[in-house]
Amino acid sequence: MNVLVVNCGSSSLKYQLINMNGEQVLAKGQFERIGADDAIFTHKRPNADKLEQVKPIKNHKEALKILLDILVDKQYGVLNSMDEIDAVGHRVVHGAEKFADSVLIDDNVMKALDECAQIAPLHNPPNIEGIEACKAIMPNVPQVAVFDTAFHQTMPKEAFLYALPYEEYAELGVRKYGFHGTSHRYVSQRCAELMGKDIKALRIISCHLGNGSSVTAVKGGKSVDTSMGFTPLSGLIMGTRSGDIDPAIIPFLMEKRHLSPQEIDTLLNKKSGVLGISGVSNDFRTIGDAAKEGNERAQLALDMFHYHVRATIGAYAAVMGGVDAIIFTAGVGENGIDDRAAICEGLEYLGTKIDPEKNNVRGEEREISIDGAKVKLFAIPTNEEIMIARDTQRLAGK
Ligand code: AMP
Repeated sequence: MNVLVVNCGSSSLKYQLINMNGEQVLAKGQFERIGADDAIFTHKRPNADKLEQVKPIKNHKEALKILLDILVDKQYGVLNSMDEIDAVGHRVVHGAEKFADSVLIDDNVMKALDECAQIAPLHNPPNIEGIEACKAIMPNVPQVAVFDTAFHQTMPKEAFLYALPYEEYAELGVRKYGFHGTSHRYVSQRCAELMGKDIKALRIISCHLGNGSSVTAVKGGKSVDTSMGFTPLSGLIMGTRSGDIDPAIIPFLMEKRHLSPQEIDTLLNKKSGVLGISGVSNDFRTIGDAAKEGNERAQLALDMFHYHVRATIGAYAAVMGGVDAIIFTAGVGENGIDDRAAICEGLEYLGTKIDPEKNNVRGEEREISIDGAKVKLFAIPTNEEIMIARDTQRLAGK
């Protein structure tokens, strides 16, 4: 079975074509700057030349048409015909309380996705556009939606409710949903496999640290708390997002700086985080370089980031009554050798210590704690695409 995995952002489309027989990636790539005259299309196959094109691409539908043409192209293709695509799996950001698992898409699901978009106006519309485009071009191919929020639907009410008037939850759905669920699900399963233990017997803290970051407490294979909330803005300090702040700061700044709701939203989502503190960049590598050259605000941004990740690890160990393994994943978690070392400094009280030699690794799956540590530390590259493809096979393969 061949599954096309599609991840649509507002101006991007990432894809992987996976043969589920052996879970082999046949092709992958992305479209960037969709809507512009100089959109970029990159297409890669294993052990073959990469294709890169710059051309006008109007919308996601046009991008998908280009993609399907390339997949069956004589020179760059990997399929004989479009009929060899058996199912499409879509990443969808927000499934609200309607979806606690992935789902085969039908008209009722499309209606529910539109309703979810009301609480995720930034994130869900491009996902829906991608699904519509696939349905129009491949009407007979089953489509599956895999949600970032679904894994966190197991959180108990005391963890997911905000102490606002209860009606705001009951009538408007204001609560913690959590995100990066597909990534946390994948790495926690991999962690149990690497430990050779049943995930049901494990307490895992999964740290997805990238441009967006979140930490999740996974007890017995289920998410019991996570640091992102109603939107992906809350929790940890991120590349450009503030993470948690005192909510009273918002009306204060709006009044003092004469900001509209949209402007304060931009300040919190795009101008804050390690970019706002360092004044240098949102990219952890650039900030790390600046810190090494003596830039104090760059060092401060990193110190704040590491501090908050460490504090959240401590909180989630308390939530689960202990911890058996801590995982680092995503751009910073997989590659940030210094970041992992700084976060783990002082975790001996939990029964763990990072091994500097084992930690000297980028983008590889590896245990990085000292031999015999009671609590294991792991670096595990995430693979959301394979989770989406597996769910798609499970639901569409029937
Ligand atoms: P992601 O959102 O998961 O793609 O992660 C992007 C982030 O990972 C960027 O801030 C990168 O700077 C960061 N990253 C990538 N490689 C490294 C590295 N070697 N050290 C530290 N951060 C890195």
